[in-house]
Amino acid sequence: MVRNERSVEGVLERIFRSAKATKTKGDVAKYIPELASVDPDRFAISVCLSDGRQLSAGDVSTPFSIQSVSKVFTLAIALGRRGESFWQRVGREPSTNAFNSLQELEVRQGIPSNPFVNAGAIVTTDTILAGSSPAEALAEILLFVQTAASDSGIRIDPSVAESEKLSGHKNWALAHVLAAYDNLAHSCELTLGTYFHHCAIAMTCEQLARSGRFLAGFDTGPQLVRASSVRLINALMLTCGHYNGSGEFAYRVGLPAKSGVGGAILAIVPGKASIATWAPGLDSNGNSLLGTAALEELSHAMGWSVFVRG
Ligand code: GLU
Repeated sequence: MVRNERSVEGVLERIFRSAKATKTKGDVAKYIPELASVDPDRFAISVCLSDGRQLSAGDVSTPFSIQSVSKVFTLAIALGRRGESFWQRVGREPSTNAFNSLQELEVRQGIPSNPFVNAGAIVTTDTILAGSSPAEALAEILLFVQTAASDSGIRIDPSVAESEKLSGHKNWALAHVLAAYDNLAHSCELTLGTYFHHCAIAMTCEQLARSGRFLAGFDTGPQLVRASSVRLINALMLTCGHYNGSGEFAYRVGLPAKSGVGGAILAIVPGKASIATWAPGLDSNGNSLLGTAALEELSHAMGWSVFVRG
């Protein structure tokens, strides 16, 4: 079947209309006070195609907190540092408990299951801090995101970072457990301060879709990571990108993707598309409810899946 750009536009409009009409939207994250006030009726979807076109529907120009989607970029940076013993400090297995589980970290004796659960992402941030101040590390992360999205206007929202610093008790606990197992090279304050700030990067849906083009294999200028890293990152997004909801997401959508508690999802169709959705209401695993439904509909309509011939 020939599926052209026009048909993508039609599918996006249909998805936008049904998202707006849906009553069950999930709950916005409340444990970060600054995110609790986000309007649950917001919805946006944007798709970058291999021919350079970008098609979108909904609130695509409203910035939101990308939260854990930032872990994709920090992982990319950490993997780019040769000579690191990164994989001795972080596993590559899907998690069976919540994204901020202390129990899982304790059972695994301070070695997080994967780089996308909070404990794993905190270790990743700690890796990036080697030889840099927090300000330098954050500048490096922000530059990476700006380059990936071809937009130098992307910023960190300091009020979101501050909000999480004051209320993110589980993350403080995770950092201290990591330190107790000798799996943090920097202080909890420095590492978490940097982590909270990269989670607080604010982007629009269109910027977020563009930032994933390097993972779809599109040539967008400077090469951000090696091809071998793209393969690894996409594999981890598929198996771990939705925490303990990753199996369900793979079953329904069939694409590597990373969610954030701000309601964003970045999904990759290798060689074909980079897709971002934003719908702040979350399911019980902390993943965007309507974003997942939108990606399910889009991937089925377009025949996009890493498990079938497109
Ligand atoms: N900053 C959030 C936290 O550490 C990220 C979690 C997420 O987006 O899934 O709890």
